[in-house]
Amino acid sequence: MICADARLLLHAYIDDELDVAQSAAMASHVRDCTACATRVREHERLRHVLAQPELYRHAPAALREHWTPRHESVPPATIPRPRRAPIAWAAAAGFAGALLLATPLYYATQPLNAAGDALVDDAVSSHLRALQPQHLMDVVSTDQHTVKPWFDGKLDFSPRVVDLAGAGFPLVGGRLDALEGRSVAALVYRRQRHIISVYEWPATTADANAAQRESRQHGYTVLRWIDDGMHYVAVSDVDPAALRTFVQDLRRGSGSSDAR
Ligand SMILES: [Zn+2]
Repeated sequence: MICADARLLLHAYIDDELDVAQSAAMASHVRDCTACATRVREHERLRHVLAQPELYRHAPAALREHWTPRHESVPPATIPRPRRAPIAWAAAAGFAGALLLATPLYYATQPLNAAGDALVDDAVSSHLRALQPQHLMDVVSTDQHTVKPWFDGKLDFSPRVVDLAGAGFPLVGGRLDALEGRSVAALVYRRQRHIISVYEWPATTADANAAQRESRQHGYTVLRWIDDGMHYVAVSDVDPAALRTFVQDLRRGSGSSDAR
């Protein structure tokens, strides 16, 4: 195993999600590689630190009181107000405003590649993790009318599920997944012996108008694009030309199924 592979499998290794062979390969690599061993130790330490109960704070009673709707008939005099509340609230509002202003700016000023590559890393990692036994699918079905409703209530959006069996890319199922910390729908398609993962989630306005982009990483091709307010990422080790055809069919299919 080389360091690049170890890095991709790192999270699955720490979460004990690898199969026996890969877990043994990781353990052996980590034994011999100081850099990867350090990385594993850092992640384990971080996980341990984040799990400390002292990190979790109960909201103070005063905050709860501020957020509790007051009944109309309660005279204002009965509600104790800390003297510094207006300043505190102004500061909080200023802080929230700064966050709102800073977030799009932050993304806008990120070099496109840097922001995109983190997503590519995450998508390839997730795809690899999904290929582990028992991890590929939560719902196993070749029928889009079974797969699509399965997501109901599990996500706050309804993913588009397109039937591409006729184009040589049969649907095999779907699962819930996470990319960069957000919940996404993952659809699993097949091309002969290759698996194609398609991730979908609603785009924010800052994401709008992203053209289709293609990246390669560790033998995987990653295509990402936005259609009708939805972010899509397709990952596979299938021939890049085949993946491009798949995406073209998927976009055409999703376009027609979305006709209003
Ligand atoms: Zn290494």
